[in-house]
Amino acid sequence: MTTTLVGTMAVAAALSLGCARQPLVPTTTPTTTPTTTTTTTTKTDVTLPTSLLVVAPHPDDEVLMAGGLMAAMRRAGRPVSVVIVTNGDLGCGRDGFVRESESIAALALLGVAENDVVFLGYPDGHLAQFGNHALGPVQRVGVDGVCAPASTTIARRGRHGRDAHTDRTGEAGVFTAPSLVADLRAVMERVKPAAVVVTHDIDDHPDHAAVAVFTRRALEDIGQGSLLLRSIVHLGACWPQGSQRRGPCSSAPFQPTTPMPPLPPPFGNYVPQLRVPTSLPTSLPTHDGPERKMQAIATFVSQTGPTPTTDWLASFARLDEPFFPVQLEAGPAGTLVRVGGSAVAADVRCRVDAGVDGGANGCEVDAGYRLVLPSSSSAPLRAEVVTAAGVAVGAVAVLATDVLAGARWTIGVDHRGDDGGVVEVTVRRDGVFIGLVVDPQPTTSTP
Ligand SMILES: [Zn+2]
Repeated sequence: MTTTLVGTMAVAAALSLGCARQPLVPTTTPTTTPTTTTTTTTKTDVTLPTSLLVVAPHPDDEVLMAGGLMAAMRRAGRPVSVVIVTNGDLGCGRDGFVRESESIAALALLGVAENDVVFLGYPDGHLAQFGNHALGPVQRVGVDGVCAPASTTIARRGRHGRDAHTDRTGEAGVFTAPSLVADLRAVMERVKPAAVVVTHDIDDHPDHAAVAVFTRRALEDIGQGSLLLRSIVHLGACWPQGSQRRGPCSSAPFQPTTPMPPLPPPFGNYVPQLRVPTSLPTSLPTHDGPERKMQAIATFVSQTGPTPTTDWLASFARLDEPFFPVQLEAGPAGTLVRVGGSAVAADVRCRVDAGVDGGANGCEVDAGYRLVLPSSSSAPLRAEVVTAAGVAVGAVAVLATDVLAGARWTIGVDHRGDDGGVVEVTVRRDGVFIGLVVDPQPTTSTP
């Protein structure tokens, strides 16, 4: 059955046509795209995907990113699964088990059952440090309530009442990227989502950026094409409580009658191609859309305190939910490639002579951008993307183990004229997705 819900926004293009999945239709500035001859119109059908997976770094991110979309999916009788990567138990200062329960209660309000929620149980605040070698023990509160060093995954709620790694293998998972990616992969293979909501690489929070990377890797590992709906939670001190980058924040948090504001500088031109109304179907009154999302947010009492509508989290309960979509399809040699856009993959010839301490690491200018690998082993390691003119655009987190002699780094340059003329620069090492940066004011010409 196809549930078609009519929105009121301008059409850009269908991200994916002619396949079995039911795409959401992105909506934004009028433009032409490779996948359709449609240019402008005033209406569009917002078609829900046949199934949805939401991947959240911490308990509450799933609701902030996609509370409205999840509720609409469940109203339409479509399956929604949620993966929460950490328990939000940074150090021992926060009770991860309380936060797990808050997520379960919030998701129940939106129609998602506990059996469709998976907690991976990795440690809050450490995901960007995950590499091939196990991260040493971190302070966590165990099931006995005692704060102690721990080196493995733990969870008490969600599907089967334990963390996904233990549930799947009989043993808790260690803190490595392969373990985390394998856990994500297992969920994806089980639920086969047509669309995946996940954090965005440019999110300020290192856990959020890391989850974006690991989710993309998991999808590529299994060669499973999907509509990736990227969502930003942290960008500057205020957004979306106002559009400025720094405080004091300009508006009241809870604004149920306004859409989400543009991103703060310098990303004002980076336009989300998809805005999903929180009142879907549109016949729903506002008080069952943003208000319902606010009700779900208010469940996270450990985060909001006693007056949730005055907390920053309330600023996500708006008329819509913005996403930066990418339709990924199976490409050559097990890769996933983006459908549409005008991506240019460029091999960059990097000098990586002596690991991270070589001092002369870097890549030659290609495709308008240069990758500068870290020349010191001091953490955190970040590979900078700079323009041909030497202007820093952004950086992706890398691990010492990524910067290996002989590694082949690749920059993919994607001119996204359909969402404000910005450029997304994708960084890979030996074909493995490392992350991407966004150049909001590109000086390079569109090919
Ligand atoms: Zn978070």
